[in-house]
Amino acid sequence: MVFAHDTEIALIAAAALINTDGSDGELLGDVAALDAFFAEQGWTGRHERTDAELADVRALRPRLRELWHAEEDRVVGIVNQLLRAAQALPQLVKHDGYAYHLHATPSDAPLADRMAVEAAMAFVDVVRSNELSRLRVCAYPGCGDVFVDLSKNRSKRFCDNSCGNKAAVGAYRARKAAAGGADG
Ligand SMILES: [Zn+2]
Ligand SMILES: [Zn+2]
Repeated sequence: MVFAHDTEIALIAAAALINTDGSDGELLGDVAALDAFFAEQGWTGRHERTDAELADVRALRPRLRELWHAEEDRVVGIVNQLLRAAQALPQLVKHDGYAYHLHATPSDAPLADRMAVEAAMAFVDVVRSNELSRLRVCAYPGCGDVFVDLSKNRSKRFCDNSCGNKAAVGAYRARKAAAGGADG
């Protein structure tokens, strides 16, 4: 494990949220889509199912995406700002069958605030461990999805959205073409 368990989950969840506005277009098009994302990602606590909540969650994505691209000092600025804005107060909690983990917002805080603070708390760990290089953008041309490389040898280059396969197929075709073989 590269980071604490809840940090890894939070980073994966943040990437998933960012990628709802990525290469596949808008995946949070309405309240029902957010509802499905909420369940699929294992979110708990307050969930209003309103257009206002949806708008807040959607507005959070570009800010979180910036964490993937920014230099360390800028990341720190964003993280501190997110924590201050939501008046984050770290507490160890246990709920819904999960072992003790950190929450820095109460479970009745707005969903977008909790998503923001959970991502920010995870980035606190990443920055302290000097591991920002593990936050990557998919290397497949035109993808642009973000992911966190939790591999031992830091070798992950593609998102999990079939880009690794597409890249392998492309490389195979290129080798074949270079070798002058007929391409079936
Ligand atoms: Zn929790
Ligand atoms: Zn990709």
